[in-house]
Amino acid sequence: MDTHTLLIIGVGLAVAGIVSSAIFQYLHKRANGSGAKKASVLASSLRDEKLKSSIILNAIEDGVILVDEQQVIQLFNPGAAKITGWKVEEARGLAWQSVLKFVDKKGEAIDETVSPLTKLFKEGETIRNNDANILTKSGKIIALSFVFSPLLDDQKNVNGVVGIFRDVSEERQAEQQRAEFISTASHEMRTPVAAIEGYLALALNDKVSTIDSRAHDYLEKAHASTQHLGKLFQDLLTSAKAEDGRLTSHPSVLEVGAWLEQVVSDLKFSAEKKGLFMEFTVGGNGTSIDARQTDEVTGITGKTLRPLYYTHADPDRLREVVTNVFDNAVKYTETGKVSVGLTGNNQVVQIYIRDTGPGIPREDIGHLFQKFYRVDNSATRTIGGTGLGLFICRKIIELYGGRIWVESEVGKGSTFFINLPRLDTQKAEQMQASEAKSSTLTPITSLSSS
Ligand code: ADP
Repeated sequence: MDTHTLLIIGVGLAVAGIVSSAIFQYLHKRANGSGAKKASVLASSLRDEKLKSSIILNAIEDGVILVDEQQVIQLFNPGAAKITGWKVEEARGLAWQSVLKFVDKKGEAIDETVSPLTKLFKEGETIRNNDANILTKSGKIIALSFVFSPLLDDQKNVNGVVGIFRDVSEERQAEQQRAEFISTASHEMRTPVAAIEGYLALALNDKVSTIDSRAHDYLEKAHASTQHLGKLFQDLLTSAKAEDGRLTSHPSVLEVGAWLEQVVSDLKFSAEKKGLFMEFTVGGNGTSIDARQTDEVTGITGKTLRPLYYTHADPDRLREVVTNVFDNAVKYTETGKVSVGLTGNNQVVQIYIRDTGPGIPREDIGHLFQKFYRVDNSATRTIGGTGLGLFICRKIIELYGGRIWVESEVGKGSTFFINLPRLDTQKAEQMQASEAKSSTLTPITSLSSS
């Protein structure tokens, strides 16, 4: 049981305390009539319960808040007061919006319609977040971790909200320092590793060096390990940046069809080198988009009429994602085929990369896009990797409001899907025109399909 769960139980007790106090008063009134003795025993035990609840609430260091259906704070413990800077008696009776001011990292107010409590009152489902920020009464930004749960009546209407929150500013700062250390260290180490890799490549090049076959063998192994190390440092650097929002990105209007064709033509050699069949389809099926619609917008690429799939993203970052997923498909597939496809509907542009490799066990799928996660099987033990690639992919795709996921069956293969918000052609052309206007120095990175 985690601390939040324990706290929820604590708050449950407190809420029970409030309810019991009402019963207590009722019984107290009744106690003036017949059966007074019985009721007074019950009343004192309820009073004890109330006392216990208030002891618990006062002792909890985390903030505990109870908001009624009118959005008014009914309960605010000393922990909440310490975190927010609002006194218990000040906060009680106020609308929660006045006390819990959710902001982004820069301190800009978050639109109230998407703030957690508004969502909870609307949707009635528990919300957890370890990455929130609020402004204290004095205007200081603090990092907040919280769990807010609805109090539902028999008809599942939200009667109120109970929440537990904790100031995690120190933890977040420590995390930030760790990320900075990793990014500085990996940046510093990448440079000498690149030099070693370069010299090993020269030593292995028979046009510039003469070495015997045994030395060649050793150097090849050293070269492969150095390449792996260089990739690890690069991935560490990128993931540290992705985590603290420092990933550089220069999004522009991108016609994914023409762009992906080029990316695939650069990548296909690695698949062919391994003896894998390679396929590229635009506008075909093979996706899990619901309510698929045929596209109304078409354009001409080479000689083929095909839909135009516009999105707004940095083509270099997107290339990193497709390359990573494609390289994995090749890396983990021994025989068969790697297919890359592009499809979509009016809202979504979808890239998919399918392989006939070993597949991914169901229990691993939920963890695959987490940092350092590698499926523990014979293939991954022998095939090198950092477990950072898919984490970086997720961070990049989320940067553009998209989603990446996998569907897989062990023994049959895997399909990775990348969904990006689609721009309709008219909007894309308008945006391209204004991009061209606003930046006469920087050329538009979008690839035209003509
Ligand atoms: P790695 O550097 O280990 O490849 P990734 O983050 O790119 O790291 O991938 C995480 C893990 O997901 C891999 O270690 C592997 O176990 C699994 N995986 C990724 N792609 C595939 C695939 N196409 N087929 C089977 N397993 C895969």
